[in-house]
Amino acid sequence: MRREKLRVTLPVVIALGSNLGDRDTTLREAIAEIGRLDGVWVDEVSSFYETDALKPEGVDLDAPAYINAVILVRSALTPHDLLSALQSIEKAHDRVRLERWGDRTLDLDIVTFGSLVQHDDILTLPHPRAFERAFVLAPWYEIEPRAEIPGRGPIAALLKATYESPRLHARWSS
Ligand code: ATP
Ligand code: MG
Ligand code: MG
Repeated sequence: MRREKLRVTLPVVIALGSNLGDRDTTLREAIAEIGRLDGVWVDEVSSFYETDALKPEGVDLDAPAYINAVILVRSALTPHDLLSALQSIEKAHDRVRLERWGDRTLDLDIVTFGSLVQHDDILTLPHPRAFERAFVLAPWYEIEPRAEIPGRGPIAALLKATYESPRLHARWSS
């Protein structure tokens, strides 16, 4: 009898974004690549939403718009190992970091990792700005409406308090 190795996992929420290149294809490829990571299993994928680019000065209608999505995964990797795996995927999609919130082919952020609350130079959990971002909350709400952000409360209420409304762009079909 074949025995599966038992691996302890925690539920993790990952936010994806892209506003350069073939945005849909990049997100689809990134989701497949996350699913192929050893110790990570993808459970749910939201629809793709389109949102105007947000810059430190505010909404930038001259910048290309974003496609955003949220996925629910289970991770046997530690939070830091998962973050470096996600950063390797960003790099493989030619992500370059030039300016804060600059245009990018791919952004992969860890929104929550179980109920972990932690902060160091590399990783802050929950993601410190997810609670006020409609482009994270709207896709997340679609696939996990009763979710909560540790320390911030139910995402349903957080989503109501946002101003932007991400536009439904494409339904997910795997
Ligand atoms: P924002 O964090 O506001 O969404 P961003 O995604 O554009 O901005 P990045 O350039 O992708 O920012 O990441 C900057 C740094 O943020 C990364 O090098 C990473 O170490 C750090 N970081 C801290 N917490 C997280 C997290 N929860 N998820 C992803 N990156 C994080
Ligand atoms: Mg980000
Ligand atoms: Mg990021």
